[in-house]
Amino acid sequence: MRVAIAGAGLAGLSCAKYLTDLGHVPIVLERRDVLGGKVAAWKDSDGDWYETGLHIFFGAYPNMLQLFKELDIEDRLQWKEHSMIFNQPESPGTYSRFDFPDLPAPFNGVMAILRNNDMLAWSDKIRFGIGLIPAMIQGQKYVEEQDKYSFSQWLEKHKIPPRVEKEVFIAMSKALNFINPDEISATVLLTALNRFLQEKSGSKMAFLDGSPTERLCQPLVDRITAGGGEVRLLAPVKKFLLDENNPSKNPVSGFLVRGADGSSDRVIEADAYVSAMPVDPLKLMLPPEWREMEYFQKLEGLEGVPVINVHLWFDCKLTDIDHLLFSRSPLLSVYADMSNTCRAYENSDRSMLELVLAPAKDWIGKSDEEIVEATMAELEKLFPDHFSGKSPAQLLKYHIVKTPRSVYKATPGRQLCRPSQVTPIANFFLTGDYTMQRYLASMEGAVLSGKLTAQAIASYFDSGDQSTLAVGG
Ligand SMILES: Cc1cc2nc3c(=O)[nH]c(=O)nc-3n(C[C@H](O)[C@H](O)[C@H](O)COP(=O)(O)OP(=O)(O)OC[C@H]3O[C@@H](n4cnc5c(N)ncnc54)[C@H](O)[C@@H]3O)c2cc1C
Repeated sequence: MRVAIAGAGLAGLSCAKYLTDLGHVPIVLERRDVLGGKVAAWKDSDGDWYETGLHIFFGAYPNMLQLFKELDIEDRLQWKEHSMIFNQPESPGTYSRFDFPDLPAPFNGVMAILRNNDMLAWSDKIRFGIGLIPAMIQGQKYVEEQDKYSFSQWLEKHKIPPRVEKEVFIAMSKALNFINPDEISATVLLTALNRFLQEKSGSKMAFLDGSPTERLCQPLVDRITAGGGEVRLLAPVKKFLLDENNPSKNPVSGFLVRGADGSSDRVIEADAYVSAMPVDPLKLMLPPEWREMEYFQKLEGLEGVPVINVHLWFDCKLTDIDHLLFSRSPLLSVYADMSNTCRAYENSDRSMLELVLAPAKDWIGKSDEEIVEATMAELEKLFPDHFSGKSPAQLLKYHIVKTPRSVYKATPGRQLCRPSQVTPIANFFLTGDYTMQRYLASMEGAVLSGKLTAQAIASYFDSGDQSTLAVGG
């Protein structure tokens, strides 16, 4: 059966890959000239890559790891030491580490927390540990119920000292959803903590060995095309066309795709249709008839959060740390020296820092120069030795990638707004990290949603629910 998919981000590509595995023929239509959506990357005129986001793969990503295995590209994941490393703003140039020993979960996590005495006092650890007991005992059910609270409210409710939030969870919250603990839903942090504490390698991190576009999206495309499917770039879906003669059976009759370079628009027909677009453009494209439906109305509660990815190339090495770093700076979230962490960006003499600027709502409208200037001022605090004295580090060049609406902003109450992959429209499905799956807005969530959507479409075909099946396109 033929399936038209709008969007070649990880969700759209994963959906297409799993449909191919099930013997169906996907045609993926991507608006831009680049694969990957929020993992898209570009090469500049010097041959250096820059990316939409600094991306980390976790041990707690079973569907993503399975996908790497299925594509036979597991060696492209560069696993790092099992640690979490934080800058110490009060002693610039130093780091505090949570090192996970080789013990079963949750003992490795508990040991990592107990052995770190820079950031948390014993009383903080005990209060926090007690607060986590319901999540550990009742699991995901409890975690979902906490969606009514922000993480700050949850900490307060459990009488956990404000120091715990300040020292650890501002950084974690910014890393997970680009917002602060007073905005983020408690469900997000508790989901991550649960995975990290319940799975031995849950918090172990890997970097991809090159750009996600080339090293992850391209093998997906190769698999899709080898199975008879297609991925077309510069093919923006403009409109969902509805079958007015047969609205109850196969309500969607085609995707109207804008023609490239002045050519006329085309209609792509298929047996089933998928939106793998982010939620913000999807909301704008909903046909008026659908907007009345409760299922689609709930999408109004979801909106992408702004974030900025900053890349800075220096004339010398700033650090030899081969890992993700939590900056704990008010301006920045996580960062990494990609010249150490990623094989394709490797350089033994010069650093390339990739830094996530979040929360970004006050910065998204500012110029690249203003963003670089503010980032450099923060770096002078993080690496004081390199930016003072006779020969301070020189910035050679930079790239800034702004995403005004990235992953959905996971404030309290959002879980209720997240839609299932199956919609009330028989031959129309959704996929994307914002759709309901247990991994929130992440690469793992996108890949899992793609797989769930492919399974839902296969059941729809198997059920024989569709009457007249479309041909060609
Ligand atoms: C700065 C940053 C850092 C991140 N860090 C991490 C991390 O460390 N770990 C992690 O797991 N996740 C991380 N994420 C989140 C992760 O990137 C996303 O959750 C995931 O990539 C979303 O995939 P998706 O397919 O759901 O959506 P998208 O990637 O947004 O894909 C949607 C696609 O639809 C296309 N599209 C839109 N409109 C149309 C149209 N009309 N017609 C056709 N195509 C259309 C878009 O161009 C895009 O390609 C990060 C994100 C950002 C922005």
